[in-house]
Amino acid sequence: MAQPKQCDACTSQQGASRQTHHTTTAAQAAKQKVAARMRQIKHKIVVLSGKGGVGKSTIAANLAVLLAQQGKRVGLLDVDIHGPSIPRLLGLDGQRLTADNDALVPLSVNPNLHVVSIAFALEEHDTALIWRGPLKMGVIQQFLGDVTWGACDYLIVDSPPGTGDEPLSVCQLIDDIDGAVVVTTPQQLALADVRKSITFCRQVGLPIIGVIENMSGLICPHCGAAVDTVETGSGESMARDMGVPFLGRLPLDPQVMRVSDAGTPFALSYAESDIGKQFATIVERINDYCTSGGKRTMNENKQPEADTKSRRFALPLAHGILAQHFGHCSEFMFVDVDAEDTITNTTSMTPPEHEPGALPAWLREHNADVIIAGGMGSRAQNLLRESGITVIVGADGSAATPQELVMTYLNGKLETGSNVCDH
Ligand code: ADP
Repeated sequence: MAQPKQCDACTSQQGASRQTHHTTTAAQAAKQKVAARMRQIKHKIVVLSGKGGVGKSTIAANLAVLLAQQGKRVGLLDVDIHGPSIPRLLGLDGQRLTADNDALVPLSVNPNLHVVSIAFALEEHDTALIWRGPLKMGVIQQFLGDVTWGACDYLIVDSPPGTGDEPLSVCQLIDDIDGAVVVTTPQQLALADVRKSITFCRQVGLPIIGVIENMSGLICPHCGAAVDTVETGSGESMARDMGVPFLGRLPLDPQVMRVSDAGTPFALSYAESDIGKQFATIVERINDYCTSGGKRTMNENKQPEADTKSRRFALPLAHGILAQHFGHCSEFMFVDVDAEDTITNTTSMTPPEHEPGALPAWLREHNADVIIAGGMGSRAQNLLRESGITVIVGADGSAATPQELVMTYLNGKLETGSNVCDH
């Protein structure tokens, strides 16, 4: 990347401070470049999953294709650095990015759909990349700031599975992401990991547009009938338990696999099939979320923001440990944490009598910022979230003090399972 021109401060400073000044200026310039490109794009969506192989890239590619077919101008960015599959899904294998002056030009699938993938910059299709976090961040920054995305209605970012450097970089680099679409399959193994993705979104302040349960039941290859399996619906239950919207289910359809592997988006080639129609409904929900004010604005600077203000945690207790029933607990422990994530104070209080809506109002009055609970009804969760309170449900407090639970949360290690009570 080109070094910025020397300014007065550079010429008047020596050695390390001059170097630091250079680095800061270059970092600021890169950030500004990203901001300028992103300002031209109305809506930004990140597609996430807890595990690989659940259909995240297939959904990202088809979401982009369908929005483009509806007349929207769409950018699709594949930041799955270790396993980019967008080129194959769109029949773009082996293509290369071109440059226009200092900028990179995305590949155009049609006049409305423009694609960038790390695969377009690799010499060999099968090259394995071993990159550390800062290098990944640098490449993603380039893909956001140095690509001529132009004025777009949507930028869809296909992130690798899990909660690693790539989704974190995207969240740090784009200030106003509309939200995440989280893809899972209904198997318990996938659900365990997707809960981490949801927790990740909450920790970085990334709104969740909703969860898609993919490969939910299957379409018989012989007669075309839809068949449910024992797991069907588990992704939807998980979304409800974790208090996040559910966007819809898509069955495992052998036709989808066949056309996807051949580089044809199923959303177009099977638009009239059940899966095509179900997918179109999901895309409509996503579009509605982004365009109808359902969008919540992300915090200006999510990562540092979380670390730069003091917060008040509230935990419902029963017999001194985390209560499983939020609405029926006998005591609340308020834990105050300063900007350095040090606990400064703990206060125990008796909540008001159980009555619908009473607890959220009482917690607001007592300035709670984050609630950590075992189980909580969806109405209470919604009331709390509408007041700007972060709600974490499904925490297991059987072997930890309230203070330990708060510290585990602050260290990003709090594991959450199912909502153990939904009333
Ligand atoms: P991920 O991005 O989560 O790793 P992919 O999108 O690459 O997953 O999908 C993995 C495989 O599953 C691909 O072969 C794809 O065609 C197939 N697939 C995805 N969704 C479906 C579906 N609903 N029915 C059948 N096959 C699917």
